[in-house]
Amino acid sequence: MIRRVHIDPATGLLRDVRQVLSPFQDERPSGSTPELIIVHGISLPPGEYGGPWIDRLFTGTLPRDAHPYFRQIPPGPVSAHALIGRDGAPTQYVPFGRRAWHAGLSEYRGRAACNDFSIGIELEGSDAAPYADAQYATLTELILALLRVYPTLAREHIVGHSDVAPGRKTDPGPGFDWARLRAGLA
Ligand SMILES: [Zn+2]
Repeated sequence: MIRRVHIDPATGLLRDVRQVLSPFQDERPSGSTPELIIVHGISLPPGEYGGPWIDRLFTGTLPRDAHPYFRQIPPGPVSAHALIGRDGAPTQYVPFGRRAWHAGLSEYRGRAACNDFSIGIELEGSDAAPYADAQYATLTELILALLRVYPTLAREHIVGHSDVAPGRKTDPGPGFDWARLRAGLA
């Protein structure tokens, strides 16, 4: 199924998509525009899908006692612009024109602090497991929409979290098929 993706350029919000706005966002530094797309993978707890916990993490309301794994998550505010669930349905947490807090300590081609100039898209999944067909379909549509709305983005500047935080982050992992994404964007 192809899910049509529309972004309102004035607000940076997806139309007709579930919105769970995160408090963990702010203005990009002056002069910074979206130039890089960072693909992430996340599941909470790892390998379990469909629960409420990613929303809760990105809104600062994750109950640390709900699962032993949650206590291992470093405290501190985190968010992403959007999440694509296993069924391909997107949720938006941060308007694309604003800064989300997804990359952490990071560097892309010599530029540090990737959050300043990137858009972070999470896929619900696990590094080693295949992502779902519906997720590739929505991710492709979303990136094509972003490329239309933000001309400072480019197909050549799409990477994984592990590419900008090597040794610290492994997502989206070997389960993510980059060739498939690139073919879909071509
Ligand atoms: Zn990540």
